[in-house]
Amino acid sequence: MVNGNLLTSFAVILLFQSVVGSDHWSYPDRNATNVFPQWGGLCDTGNRQSPIDLSLSGALKGNFPDFEFHNYDKTLTSPSLLNNGHTVKLSNFNVQMTLTGGPLTDKFIVEEVHLHWWSEHTIDKIRYPMEAHIVHRNTRYANITEAASHKNGIAVVGVLFHASNEANKGIGKIIENIEFINSADEIGKPVKIEQKLNLREFFPKLSGGYLSYPGSLTTPSCAEAVTWIVLLDTFPVTLDQVNEFKGIETYGGKKLTDNYRDVQKKNNRPVLVVHQESSDAPASLRASTFSLIGSIVVLYISKVLQ
Ligand SMILES: [Zn+2]
Repeated sequence: MVNGNLLTSFAVILLFQSVVGSDHWSYPDRNATNVFPQWGGLCDTGNRQSPIDLSLSGALKGNFPDFEFHNYDKTLTSPSLLNNGHTVKLSNFNVQMTLTGGPLTDKFIVEEVHLHWWSEHTIDKIRYPMEAHIVHRNTRYANITEAASHKNGIAVVGVLFHASNEANKGIGKIIENIEFINSADEIGKPVKIEQKLNLREFFPKLSGGYLSYPGSLTTPSCAEAVTWIVLLDTFPVTLDQVNEFKGIETYGGKKLTDNYRDVQKKNNRPVLVVHQESSDAPASLRASTFSLIGSIVVLYISKVLQ
């Protein structure tokens, strides 16, 4: 009888671990320790891990076709917002948002957007109050799990936010919904966002170019499948807005006061700095401006030749 109970208990524990095992990792309590926990697997043994400290002075100059952000300015209808115990993430988009160009040779589609408070990447050792990750899957692969097993499987656009008196619109809309997801009881339960929202509200311009390097996911499994694109333009957020996220609960009702991984060894990886040749106006607008200028030149020449 006792043995039977013991067996049942073991079975329950094993079942529990197999269901929630992958979520049983955490960020350190930085007030209590300087030691970052070992997350296991590639997180501890990999050699192209993220985030890293980025520096313009150590970067290699790159020149690529401009990025094309398709549908990022389209209004998203009722996307899901989820507290997964490690971040808040937006997903289930009704619009297909795709990224091509830059150093990417395939087409990538947006899978989710999530936030880190404070930033994971640092620029010349300077940390930012917040970083958004727009996670894209290479459309060669059927789903994000398959994409994570290929080194060209995932592209993440990292958007850094600097402290300002000016609130960020996109982040403000997430904050309006935090009350529905902030309790530990709500972990894993998505809610629908009713406000009108589009991804361009997180990064309204892209004129300063970007830094790009080969890296990994910054949470377990730490898959080394990511082409990182960290925008050089940074965008305003107020510290009051950032503080709203520090009240979100993780497992056991503990506050998720921050959710950034320590910077990892660079291991001689090339970091490219790319300045976009033109503005970030949509390609169609650039094409029509070009053809307008072309028409004026043709008109002028034909006038001169008359
Ligand atoms: Zn992230």
